[in-house]
Amino acid sequence: MSANEELKPYLITDPREMSRRVDELRRQGKRIGLVPTMGALHLGHLSLAIASKNECDVTIVSDFVNPTQFAPGEDYDKYPRTLDADIDLLSKIETDFIFAPKPSDMYPRGFDATVHVGGVTGLLEGSFRPTHFDGVALVVLKLFNITRADVAYFGQKDYQQVQVVKKMVADLNVPTEIDMRPIIRERDGLAMSSRNQYLSDDERRQALVLNQALEEAKRLISEGERESSVIYDAMRAIIESAPSAKIDYMHIGDPTSLREMERVCGNVVVLLAVRIGATRLIDNILIEK
Ligand code: AMP
Repeated sequence: MSANEELKPYLITDPREMSRRVDELRRQGKRIGLVPTMGALHLGHLSLAIASKNECDVTIVSDFVNPTQFAPGEDYDKYPRTLDADIDLLSKIETDFIFAPKPSDMYPRGFDATVHVGGVTGLLEGSFRPTHFDGVALVVLKLFNITRADVAYFGQKDYQQVQVVKKMVADLNVPTEIDMRPIIRERDGLAMSSRNQYLSDDERRQALVLNQALEEAKRLISEGERESSVIYDAMRAIIESAPSAKIDYMHIGDPTSLREMERVCGNVVVLLAVRIGATRLIDNILIEK
């Protein structure tokens, strides 16, 4: 084995093997950090793995394109799968374990369990993708049980997902702590996403309107605008300047319940889902007083 190979994260595909490893580490009193991902890793994912490395004794990055969170007709089949490149990236920051199970190991024949979190799943992404958060809650709970993580790191990029996971662990007494980290953006402001690679060059330029609209919302609020409808109008004008953009939703809401606010009052989160051609992108900004 070369020195280079020794630095590689230990690749585990079998959930039972992952649990056995974790049991040993927990017996040694190690603090375990988990970063759930669907692979096709970029700097956004790496920022979470680095946070875990800084705060935990052992970092596990899961790399699993979870079939249960995709509806028929969504991009499950074409979702990028780049395990070798992911392993190379994670080796650069000396991640301890990469857990990349097969779908048939996570959901063997006869698998019957479901996890449904109510409330916060009923709007926004939940309206456009009604089965999505059941799939997310299911896989995240399984990953927490397999890895018995002390802390799990999630990106603000999927803001609603973080609120769903927080509600799930609170309601079900799951002992894993949830740590949300900021959105990592390209230099021009586009939020990094594995799905950005679906965009053509022209669509990639048009996709900048998401961040521009969120920045405009922030500017208006900082200047004292409180009427959400005025802020939506300004955001819509920016987004619709991109010829391929179609808005799924714009939403100014309470940062925890996500309940929509007609008037801005206190801290708010502004969330967006926009289709650029065939690619659906989400983005958001937290505006704190
Ligand atoms: P995914 O592989 O898209 O399921 O994302 C795995 C984790 O990485 C989720 O917690 C995402 O919110 C997070 N993530 C994705 N993109 C970014 C980004 N640009 N900045 C920070 N975190 C991100």
